[in-house]
Amino acid sequence: MEIVKTIEQVRKVVSEAGMASREIGLVPTMGALHEGHFSLIKAAKKQCDFVAVSIFVNPTQFGPGEDLAKYPRPFDADVKACKELGVDIIFAPSDKEMYPEKNITWVNVEKLSEPLCGKSRPGHFRGVATVCAKLFNIVQPDVAFFGQKDAQQAVIIQRMVADLNMPMEIVVCPTVRQIDGLAMSSRNKYLNDKERKDAALLYAALQEAEMLIGAGVRKSSELVREMEKILKISKQIKVEYISIVNAQTLDEIDEVKGKVLIAIAAKLGSARLIDNIMLDVE
Ligand code: AMP
Repeated sequence: MEIVKTIEQVRKVVSEAGMASREIGLVPTMGALHEGHFSLIKAAKKQCDFVAVSIFVNPTQFGPGEDLAKYPRPFDADVKACKELGVDIIFAPSDKEMYPEKNITWVNVEKLSEPLCGKSRPGHFRGVATVCAKLFNIVQPDVAFFGQKDAQQAVIIQRMVADLNMPMEIVVCPTVRQIDGLAMSSRNKYLNDKERKDAALLYAALQEAEMLIGAGVRKSSELVREMEKILKISKQIKVEYISIVNAQTLDEIDEVKGKVLIAIAAKLGSARLIDNIMLDVE
């Protein structure tokens, strides 16, 4: 496995791999790799002949006052995990390599970047779309792998690739959870023991919604009310939003029907957690 830090090096290694007409897979990450990331890498290994993992804590997707400085960066452990999983190359550029000058060219996926997390994180998805466009241009993968855990991000990247005719496929992999249902996240490290316990309520609330839909409830307001009740079991959970939206357009819906996304964002201590489920409702 090669570890490269420059755009020139990664282009060289990937283009050599591509010459053997191999399918190139890219797994973009911010590092602090866990089972969620591993599932993406495993999917890439299965589908592609050559797998690149990028590790880059992208400053342009963090707002002022967010956790850019304290975001975990256990690079050696990440390298070890990638090696064990059979990754071919890690691309771990510096901020200067990715943004040699103050960035003034942005990819903004309008409308889809505004609801849900876009409300409290203005500019976040512009940073995400821009860095993904840059990584796609640098690595030129045939396929890139994303997690359903970040559902809005996945919808935005799929739309960017379609709108800009990027010649590649986006694969979205299911959310990997811990035993009590908490979605794996690099930010779970910020939770103390009590917060970690209470964090499982996010998925419990989503499961409650799924159960109620199964029992015939269709009104979003009723589902949100029941989810709120579950989250209120913890005094530490500060709900940012509970939203029920169309899974493609991300428009709020009053009645669940067709492909719907039920998404939660909440603060728990210093951690901001998100989770979601996607359902196809008759
Ligand atoms: P991050 O390093 O947080 O930017 O995440 C990199 C990729 O891993 C994104 O596509 C995430 O959606 C995905 N990911 C993060 N956590 C999980 C999880 N628990 N299950 C599946 N994918 C995940």
